[in-house]
Amino acid sequence: MATIAVLGAGLGGTIMAYELRDQASKDDRIILINKGSRFSFVPSNPWVAVGWRQRETIEVDLEPACTRRNITLMPQGAERLVPEENRIELLDGTSVSYDYLVIATGPELAFDEIEGFGPGNHTHSICHIDHALAAKQAFDRLVAEPGPVVIGAAQGASCFGPAYEFAFILDKALRDAKVRDRVPMTFITSEPYIGHLGLDGVGDTKGLLESELRNHHIKWITNAKVQRFEIDKVVAEELNEDGSVKTVHEVPSAFTMMLPAFRGVSAVRDIEGLTNPRGFIMVDRHQQNAKYQNVFSVGVCVAIPPMGKTPVPVGVPKTGFMIESMVTATAHNIARLLDGERPNAQGTWNAVCLADFGDGGIAFVAQPQIPPRNVNWSSSGKWVHAAKIGFEKYFLYKIKLGKSEPFYERLALQALGIDKLKSIELEDA
Ligand SMILES: Cc1cc2nc3c(=O)[nH]c(=O)nc-3n(C[C@H](O)[C@H](O)[C@H](O)COP(=O)(O)OP(=O)(O)OC[C@H]3O[C@@H](n4cnc5c(N)ncnc54)[C@H](O)[C@@H]3O)c2cc1C
Repeated sequence: MATIAVLGAGLGGTIMAYELRDQASKDDRIILINKGSRFSFVPSNPWVAVGWRQRETIEVDLEPACTRRNITLMPQGAERLVPEENRIELLDGTSVSYDYLVIATGPELAFDEIEGFGPGNHTHSICHIDHALAAKQAFDRLVAEPGPVVIGAAQGASCFGPAYEFAFILDKALRDAKVRDRVPMTFITSEPYIGHLGLDGVGDTKGLLESELRNHHIKWITNAKVQRFEIDKVVAEELNEDGSVKTVHEVPSAFTMMLPAFRGVSAVRDIEGLTNPRGFIMVDRHQQNAKYQNVFSVGVCVAIPPMGKTPVPVGVPKTGFMIESMVTATAHNIARLLDGERPNAQGTWNAVCLADFGDGGIAFVAQPQIPPRNVNWSSSGKWVHAAKIGFEKYFLYKIKLGKSEPFYERLALQALGIDKLKSIELEDA
């Protein structure tokens, strides 16, 4: 009988626990450790921030599904991982031992790296449901008293899709409120060009997104490194190719939302051989850490090197399908270890993204992530908005059900050819 702990019950960790339950034997114990007992669907946060979703509609109580699936949910949260002792110290002073561990703790938001950044300072956030709910109050104030808006992604960010999404969703919400004509909007991004997305573009994301920004009267600044956020403006340097400063912009803003850089959470940071300097978990192609071979990792907390050099640092995004492929590979590999075999599954790590614009959107598929690619496709249209709602409903349904991939979802994915995007590759023996 083995104890397998999953640390973090977000998008990656929850389905990780469900897939492990499917793969492990009945006698193996699966423990899911989280801060709190509720699952929150992060991709819906941009909708929360303009009032299109409430907390209750995008959160799920994990207790019933975990009880049904014989998964022990521990909502105390982790204080510190002690991998030499195969042990996690919890925030309530107790501790949990494991035979295998999957770290799925997502990102810590590095707002402190720029002056005036983050909720409680001069900007709003959509990275967490609590932030998105606070941003909704600021949105209401903006509608009552219209003023300029800045949306974007700061230096070191690795999550660009949601920044574009939120710019267009906000544009739509302001049009619906009939105040858009009094809200000048600017998109400020660390990307070297619009549509780079941390992936050096996918298909024609450059053309598609520039055209959408123009059509929605949103100005932009690329290669931007924010110096500081003030109560009524954003001060950002625009850099040249060689890294020298081209211009310093002072952009007035009554409402600012920029995605921050991410780093690993404190419970797992600064562990020699486990984490890189930013606290991301180092794993090999099997999602396994080289030093602590009973430790695996999935999701945003995994270390992935940047795509290439850019004047302002940008990271590679980790999107839902990519995370699901990491999860499936990890469940398979841990099952192999339990059977006394070597891990042999690799996630395909394809980047698939649906970016909703409120009444349309863009979708892209990059396979593999690094160009040249076998699949390098992007498209736009109203169908993306519908598909994003479908993705939300499916995901919340499977979290409630306690199954990583219900049978009918598998059928639908196969019919659309998407199953291959979250598939894993098995190496020869
Ligand atoms: C605003 C936004 C929108 C996004 N939209 C999309 C999208 O539309 N499509 C897409 O494919 N991707 C999207 N992403 C990217 C990605 O899919 C999400 O960030 C996703 O939530 C990442 O999953 P995760 O499991 O790695 O982390 P998370 O979902 O953030 O989960 C991490 C979990 O770990 C827990 N945790 C952290 N520290 C501890 C601790 N010390 N002890 C115990 N538990 C802990 C947290 O409470 C949380 O439950 C979006 C990202 C953001 C920020």
